[in-house]
Amino acid sequence: MTIADNRITGVTLQKRRFKVWQRDPRCVMCGRLTDYPSGFELDHIIPLYQGGEDVISNTQILCCGEDGCHKKKTKQDMKA
Ligand SMILES: [Zn+2]
Repeated sequence: MTIADNRITGVTLQKRRFKVWQRDPRCVMCGRLTDYPSGFELDHIIPLYQGGEDVISNTQILCCGEDGCHKKKTKQDMKA
């Protein structure tokens, strides 16, 4: 759990993470199967700062870790 995960806290976040993961446990960028609960990050398809909504339909799974897609995408989003 990282600090960035604390936008919505506790039970709500855990439920949401599980729902999205259950729907499709693969990373949307590389197709890797991710582990619950610590092998992925919930990513906003449309970033919140670009007007994206904080809802399940605007979230997707990205694998995390040193070489994970979440890290790569976050870097790209920062440049955009
Ligand atoms: Zn990935």
